[in-house]
Amino acid sequence: MPLSDARAHLLTNDTADRYRRLLNEGVDRVAARIATTERPCSGVTPDVLAPIVDSVDLDRPLGDPLAALAELEDVYLRDAVYFHHPRYLAHLNCPVVIPAVLGEAILAAVNSSMDTWDQSAGGTLIERRLVDWTARRIGFGPAADGVFTSGGSQSNLQALLLAREEALAATGPSRAAALPRLRILASAAGHFSVQKSAKLLGLAPDAVVAVGVDADRRMRPVALDRELARCRERGQVVMAVVATAGTTDFGSIDPLPAIAERCAAAGVWLHVDAAYGCGLLASTTRRHLLAGIERADSVTVDYHKSFFQPVSSSALVVADGRRLRHATYHADYLNPARMAEQRIPNQVDKSLQTTRRFDALKLWMTLRIMGADAIGALFDDVVDRAAAAWDLLAEDPRFEVVTRSALSTVVFRYLPTGAGRVHADAVNLHAREALAASGAAVVAATKVDGRHFLKFTLLNPETTVEDIATVLELIAGHAEAYVARATAPLLACTA
Ligand SMILES: *Cc1c(COP(=O)(O)O)cnc(C)c1O
Repeated sequence: MPLSDARAHLLTNDTADRYRRLLNEGVDRVAARIATTERPCSGVTPDVLAPIVDSVDLDRPLGDPLAALAELEDVYLRDAVYFHHPRYLAHLNCPVVIPAVLGEAILAAVNSSMDTWDQSAGGTLIERRLVDWTARRIGFGPAADGVFTSGGSQSNLQALLLAREEALAATGPSRAAALPRLRILASAAGHFSVQKSAKLLGLAPDAVVAVGVDADRRMRPVALDRELARCRERGQVVMAVVATAGTTDFGSIDPLPAIAERCAAAGVWLHVDAAYGCGLLASTTRRHLLAGIERADSVTVDYHKSFFQPVSSSALVVADGRRLRHATYHADYLNPARMAEQRIPNQVDKSLQTTRRFDALKLWMTLRIMGADAIGALFDDVVDRAAAAWDLLAEDPRFEVVTRSALSTVVFRYLPTGAGRVHADAVNLHAREALAASGAAVVAATKVDGRHFLKFTLLNPETTVEDIATVLELIAGHAEAYVARATAPLLACTA
């Protein structure tokens, strides 16, 4: 491609028209897909799709954008998993609100970077307003601050980095001696990013201690007391307690006031992982479920889960903004200390990232067009639907359903009767796979006390109780077929 042709692909003042036309073509294709998808996925398997993707010669460009869009149908769009479909019931993926998608298109084209004022200007101020807005909803005071991150995993990592630095500062001069003694207390239903963070932070392999949960999978305050005492007896230093406001599997919310009480008494950093439950911050009817969150030292919020935002959009918010200094380094070329002295705002001093997306714009457009109440109403709606799904399952003798979620998950399994009972694990694994292969619906799988269960995560207000009933019939159908095969007398095969 000659240089002049290459330049025609750059978005510049000469090519704004090309940008407008091409974006419209892309939007038209996606809109057509979204409007006509009959199934949440095609059920394609990697061995079918991989040869198609692998056959693309990346060193022979098509040149024509329309040809590339046509090719994209084959390598991606036709077989993508569509979260807007009412029978996508698997993971914490949401249908997205259009104001946020508008924000996404704008931020990609302007391409602001959130590290410094001279790469973002108003972007920095907008992000700061949204951090403050979130902090106020949490109930933090004026000292609060925070930063947008790539997701809950990064938010949790950064929270635990800050907690580690505070704990090490308190334990005296020898970091090397103190590091192996640090412990993090979290419930067994907490998120695995806590374990990953502990590893990245150089903690001992057994640094994350699982605190016992009650029948509803909420951390038990007496179990927390016991672990705090045990750590003290062993000379270990608890650097943080991680409470979860919305566990990924069970949607359970740890008893935040009781946990906050204990953290305050023990002088331990309380991190609340509200990656999933943060949508309640916008709810006009269920905000009370997060009572106590305002006593945390740090909070993780994933707008890309319960605020219906496109990936990625997350934040870490801390009660005392000064503690973000543990993530601050000054580079002469980027954020010299003199800029801080001149009070020129930048976000890189608070972030683990340097170049960083202007994800905050999506939430800004959402709040400016729809408002928080509308987001809260969407989330409340799916929480209501999960309760209805639980009722449906509880009445159905074919299924066993576990704890009623405070949020929008439902964990259950098909329970074969009689001789089929021994196959319960295999039956549920099979039902999930068969369902996904058919493309009719997507549900998740998890384990409860060592047994295989199925899981709905509802985040789509378009999912009706009828959709859920239909999916349950499909699961039962696949399960019954499996049981029939597994328990058929061998004789049948010899005919
Ligand atoms: C999803 C989730 C995370 C991780 O967030 P990502 O955005 O996927 O990195 C952390 N904690 C909980 C409770 C979650 O549900």
